[in-house]
Parts: sequence; C-alpha cells; structure tokens
Amino acid sequence: MAVPTTIESEVRSYSRSWPVVFTHGRGSRLYDEDDRAYLDFFAGASALNYGHNHPVLKQELLRYVERDGVTHSLDMFTGARTAFLHELDARVLQPRGLDYKVQFPGPTGTNSVEAALKLARKVTGRQTVVAFTGAFHGMSLGSLAVTGNASKRAGAGVPLGLTWRLPYDGFGGGKVCGLTLLESMLDDSSSGMDLPAAVIVETVQGEGGVNPARLTWLADLADVCARRGILLVLDDIQMGCGRTGPFFSFEAAGIVPDIVCLSKSISGYGLPMALTLFRSELDVWSPGEHNGTFRGNNPAFVTATAALREFWSDDSLEKQTMVRELLLREHLGELAHEHEEHVTQARGRGLVWGLAFRDPRLARRTADEAFARGLLVETAGSCDEVVKLLPALTTTDDELTEGLDILRASVATAVRGRAG
Ligand code: PLP
Repeated sequence: MAVPTTIESEVRSYSRSWPVVFTHGRGSRLYDEDDRAYLDFFAGASALNYGHNHPVLKQELLRYVERDGVTHSLDMFTGARTAFLHELDARVLQPRGLDYKVQFPGPTGTNSVEAALKLARKVTGRQTVVAFTGAFHGMSLGSLAVTGNASKRAGAGVPLGLTWRLPYDGFGGGKVCGLTLLESMLDDSSSGMDLPAAVIVETVQGEGGVNPARLTWLADLADVCARRGILLVLDDIQMGCGRTGPFFSFEAAGIVPDIVCLSKSISGYGLPMALTLFRSELDVWSPGEHNGTFRGNNPAFVTATAALREFWSDDSLEKQTMVRELLLREHLGELAHEHEEHVTQARGRGLVWGLAFRDPRLARRTADEAFARGLLVETAGSCDEVVKLLPALTTTDDELTEGLDILRASVATAVRGRAG
C-alpha cells in the first residue's frame, strides 16, 4: 500500500530519515514491509530501553488485555495502578532511600516537565526557572521555554519567558562556568536576576548532542540549589530507566533532586506513560489542580510493573551497562581518533553515545549510510552535528559489535565522499 504522505502534515521528521514502512519489531531489530531487518540503535529515542516487544512484558500485557483488564481510568484506583505503585516503591524508591511522592502527570515527557515547573512555581511562589544551553525538555509552551534549540523555540509563536539561560557544563569549551555565574548573579542585588523557583537540568543532554555533565558539576549544582533554596528539577526522561547505568542517571553524582521527571522507558514497552516524582513535603497540590484524561494508561502500568520486576530486582542490568560503556568508549574513541580531521569527540555515558563531527553534513551522511546498511541512528546537537547511539540496554554483545562495525563503515564512506 502506498504511504499517504500527501495527507500527513509536513511536520513529520523521522520518516524522512528512514523512508520505509516498518511493520514489526523484536528486541533490537525492526523489520520493514519487505521483511528487511534494521538494527535499531535509536530505540524510540530511549523509550525502548528493553527493546521492541520484550517477551516477558508482552506476555503480561496480553494476559491483561485477554482478561478485560481496565484500559482507561483517569486517576481512579485500578489493580494495575496499585501494582505499579507498589513495585516502584519496593524496587526503585525504597532501596535508594528516596522519599518521593508520585504524580501521574499525563502520558508524555512534556507533561511531566509541565507538572514539575508548575509545582516548583506553586511551592516557591517564584516565577523564573534556570535552564541550560543545549537543554531539551519538550514541545509544549512551558517545557519549550526551558528548551534551548532556536528552531524548536521559534515554533512557539509567542514569547517564551520566565527562563534564565546559563552555560551547561562544558559549553563553549568550558570557558564560562554556569554555576559560578549563577552564584555571582544571585550575590549581586543589581544583577537583575531574581531568585529562581527552580533549576531544571539533564545529567546528559540527549537531544542537545550527547553532552554529559561532569558528576562533580552536578553535585555542585545540587549544592548551590540547596544552599539558595532553589528547587532542583532533574529531567531524567531520556537518561533515566537505566540508560546511563543506574535506574536514575543522577545516582552516580550522589545527589537527590527535589523533583524528577520520568517518561520514555518507564512503561518499558513504548507505551505512553510519565511520572513526576517529588519530595513529599513539596506535595502542595489540591485535588484535581493539575489533571489530564490520559493519566491512567493501565496497559502501560502493566508493562511498567513487569519491567521493574524483570530488570530492576537486582543490579545485573546496571552492571552490564557499565561494562558496555567501556566497550563503546574504546571503540568510539578509536573511531574518533582515526577520523580526527572530521570527528571532534566521542562522548557518552552508559549506553548513550555521540560522535561529534566538525561538519554537520558528515553526521547526516553517516546516519544515511548507516541506514543504507541496515542500522538506525539519528543525529542530535544544535546543528545536528552529532551522530547519537542509543542501543537498547538488552542489545546483545554481538549486536553491539555489528552496529559498531556498520557505524565504522558508514563514517568511512561519509568522510570519503565528504560534503562541500
Ligand atoms: N525531556 C527530555 C530530556 C527529552 O529527551 C524529551 C524528549 O525527547 C522530553 C523531555 C519530551 O518528552 P516527550 O517527547 O515525550 O514530550
């Protein structure tokens, strides 16, 4: 059947990079209508950390649907919701000593960020929020206001205000430290900077081009926030659920954010679901003050519960990811070195890695060459100059090697026929 591209808005994007019709997926492979297999190193932009249609999660979902389990429930109590909350508490919050309340803010990442920003403003009675260069927090107006990317911001059509922008760790070669700037601005009553309600931050900027902040920088940021009475909102939508190793990406920095945004892989199956977690004393919401029709996506609760049981009962997945970090660091470091004329850096943490090119056209060409060879990778960064790797955490060692070999060949071809 021909793809009806004329009926669909021009706004679609990924289908332009990968102009085939995908029909099914299993683990780290997606298949198109001609049954051609693609190794998926995009993993739904980290919404598929456990791969496509994981058999254990699928079984739980099928069982639930088969017995007419409730599908939609707003925020009514359901068995699936109760089971999820128990599992989250027992496997994630309690073992980490996290005294967080759980809010279901609506099913997408931006819903979680909107809830976090609204809550931070309500708790503090302040309006401005500090956000960083390169940040990506979503497309609705509140989350877009704290997002950095110019073309995404331009789409708002209205002023995006109440945000103070500061340099993220390493921005501009690290010449200006955002935290020193923040403290000096706050210390000077003529700086024009009011005390913000919150700082919102990613531990590794995914859409921003795979920029990992140093763990010491994150710890210092948490310290500034605590000393100044500014709430720390940690957007773990892309980097949470094990992407960098531990369940929460901020664990490695030894910090406890005031508010945490989670989405993408929390359902474990690619089903829409999001959470906003916050210290219990911040729970100043009145009933129904922030609501939404799709906060009770029970099939997602079922797969989320199964995913927590399957992958977070012990630390084996975390350990495996940390071992693979070393493998990727070595392979991509070598690749960057081989092509140092064109590739400025290989950087990442856990199983999120980026290969930064001097010329964004080479990043695009590398991703296109990879697609032609059956590997799905996308670009990220302010000029789309970074080829981003997000393999599922369940990808096998052989698949990792296969993907890295394809990437190597793709870079070589891209560089040989280089643009310009
Ligand atoms: N925050 C981060 C860090 C993200 O990476 C994303 C999406 O890529 C979002 C927020 C927005 O999530 P959603 O696209 O589900 O609204």
